[in-house]
Amino acid sequence: MTDTLYSIFDSHAHYDAEQFNDDRDEILTSLPKKGVVGIVNMGTDIDTCLQTIALTEKYDYLYGAAGIHPECAKDLPANWLTQLRTFLKHDKIKAVGEIGLDYHWLELCPKETQKEVLTAQLALANELDYPVVLHDREAHGDMMDFLREYRPKGVVHCFSGSVEMAREVIKLGLYIGLDGPVTFKNARHSVEVAKDIPLERLLLETDAPYMSPEPLRGKRNDSANIRYIGERIAEIRGVSPEVIFNATTENTKRLFGID
Ligand SMILES: [Zn+2]
Repeated sequence: MTDTLYSIFDSHAHYDAEQFNDDRDEILTSLPKKGVVGIVNMGTDIDTCLQTIALTEKYDYLYGAAGIHPECAKDLPANWLTQLRTFLKHDKIKAVGEIGLDYHWLELCPKETQKEVLTAQLALANELDYPVVLHDREAHGDMMDFLREYRPKGVVHCFSGSVEMAREVIKLGLYIGLDGPVTFKNARHSVEVAKDIPLERLLLETDAPYMSPEPLRGKRNDSANIRYIGERIAEIRGVSPEVIFNATTENTKRLFGID
């Protein structure tokens, strides 16, 4: 690793998370000095959508997405979709997200409810012509069915599928988001995906405070650590890290309509 300052755009983070309660402002003030030119913060329920909006108003370089995460899709207020529409009118809210399917934590929300909430949000995104940020954990088959049916524009974040699935996602016009796991010693699928997909469809992300890359695995994550992810992908593809960072920054701006 070098001390080169890369142009880092973190396409997926959760700075509203309680893990940042003690030093959120300190971190968000320091990141631009470490090369971070942009962040897209995710809403996961009504409350974190409001927190995301507040963060976008405080930090110029921070943008947001508003959506209901599958883990939060149970017992929603009756007017949740109306509230979401209001959030999406904010000029720094650039996508519907984080939305999707999570079959790992079914006790948090049953499959049928997850699907209903995802359906409503995909329809809303298409109606308003917004990109979506998709979470897919252990739900690849159903996720692909949704993508084929709704044909959203957007990104499958923290991509964990096979190369074949990645190719189909790209054929459908979407982007692939890669994060910490691509640096793990036992990584297999994500390394193959990082090597195979066209560079113009790759986004880098942290999922901070989660998913820290090697050599920081297990610690709290932040957007500056994307350097490890980009450097690893550069190594996998046999190009210089600058090529990866410049392309993924452009890709993120293009997808989310950020100048
Ligand atoms: Zn996330």
